[in-house]
Amino acid sequence: MKVAIIGGGLAGSECALNLARASIDVVLYEMRPEKLTPAHRTGHFAELVCSNSLKSTELHNAHGVLKREMEILDSILLEFAKLTAISSGRALVVDREMFSAKVSELISSSPKIEVVRNEVTEFPEADYVVVATGPLTSGSFADYLKKIVGDRFLNFYDAVAPVIYSESINLSKMYFKDRHGMDDSIYLNIPLNKEDYLQFVEALRKAEIYEPHLREDKDYFEACLPIEVMAKRGDDTLRCGPMRPDGLNPPGENREPYAVVQLRAENRERTLYSLVGFQTQLKIVEQEKVFRMLPGMEKAEFAVYGKIHRNTYLNSPKILDNYLRLNSMDRVFFAGQLVGTEGYVEAIWGGLLVSYFIIHLIRKKSLPELPPLTTMTGALLDYITHYPYEDFKPMNANFGIISQVHFRIKGRDRRIYKAQRALRDIALWKERNLSEIF
Ligand SMILES: Cc1cc2nc3c(=O)[nH]c(=O)nc-3n(C[C@H](O)[C@H](O)[C@H](O)COP(=O)(O)OP(=O)(O)OC[C@H]3O[C@@H](n4cnc5c(N)ncnc54)[C@H](O)[C@@H]3O)c2cc1C
Repeated sequence: MKVAIIGGGLAGSECALNLARASIDVVLYEMRPEKLTPAHRTGHFAELVCSNSLKSTELHNAHGVLKREMEILDSILLEFAKLTAISSGRALVVDREMFSAKVSELISSSPKIEVVRNEVTEFPEADYVVVATGPLTSGSFADYLKKIVGDRFLNFYDAVAPVIYSESINLSKMYFKDRHGMDDSIYLNIPLNKEDYLQFVEALRKAEIYEPHLREDKDYFEACLPIEVMAKRGDDTLRCGPMRPDGLNPPGENREPYAVVQLRAENRERTLYSLVGFQTQLKIVEQEKVFRMLPGMEKAEFAVYGKIHRNTYLNSPKILDNYLRLNSMDRVFFAGQLVGTEGYVEAIWGGLLVSYFIIHLIRKKSLPELPPLTTMTGALLDYITHYPYEDFKPMNANFGIISQVHFRIKGRDRRIYKAQRALRDIALWKERNLSEIF
């Protein structure tokens, strides 16, 4: 049995090393250093392209929980991250050179991994293929992928609006209503009078913008203009665009407000709401400051911050199955940012998970149970394979996607409860599914 992995970034390296640990033969294709992406600088495997932080290690933080689950699942790259950590504080911050050098050393010395330094332009011959070419997948391979999955299902740009935890907003200042009368329970509306609207527009104009890493991130398409750019085009641009009040009169009133901010439920349990049409390039601190000016949003907590950047990713809910395989070709798995996760740790997680699916298939001739929805692993996997709307956008680890807790506990205590339950459940899943596969 042979597994071909395309892309030796974070997901591909984790996947290759875990398969090799299970004594499975791997061919790892990586185009660097011959051909670099616009963000990578070296030929090392698992290069961190920007920040050297793998985010929080704390249990009340979703990234902390994801990392603890990955520890339970024996993530190899996470182990290297801890070995090369340069701080023992609340975040896992690594020496980037040392981290990717260590990963590269282990890959190069593994008798089970054959490294091929070539740009791949089509799926290679192998029993299983893992595509982990990341957000900056090379052009010719992206063209090939488009042919396989269909034009509509591969995105090259990511215009993300902020996503807010529902428990952090004040519903008494909002009302449910769909302007088309189709699904009133999904849309929440914040009505604004003229004065509040103009103040909000002014704050957007004055807020500082994030300086992107890639030159091309300064460009954006007219169809997904950042909200701050719309604000600069004129006082009325937003109230004729994403903040238009048409059909949104508050309950019992027969007049529309001056402008309306719409929030849309992002998951089945309605623990997350996105700000409709609010894609933005504002700095994180500015997003917090400006969006908390809105009535009912004073204490809003962000599960995802808005952004606009170059990002190749699949419309996974439409074309992948529950195990991140192509619906139309079940020997082909996808992992890393390409499946619609966001962030270094999430990319490593994807490589780890797919490696276990393949090991299970090879050793037991079947797939494992899906990880429970009470775990960050199960919840993230479910989110990216079952997102219910057309406009699928990448997601990072957060508590909103994890199965709800029906207790009267709130805030940090609720998170700790969810975290402890997640760690217990992932350990049980591991015991039931992964104990005899090595
Ligand atoms: C500019 C930028 C900055 C980012 N900064 C951060 C950050 O600070 N923190 C964070 O958490 N996340 C960040 N991300 C998001 C994301 O976490 C990283 O991009 C992460 O590296 C994704 O992991 P991956 O394994 O999916 O892809 P990558 O790590 O990018 O790996 C993909 C690999 O595939 C190779 N490849 C591509 N096409 C081919 C081909 N046809 N044939 C062979 N090899 C190929 C590439 O050379 C690369 O090595 C950033 C993303 C970008 C684009």
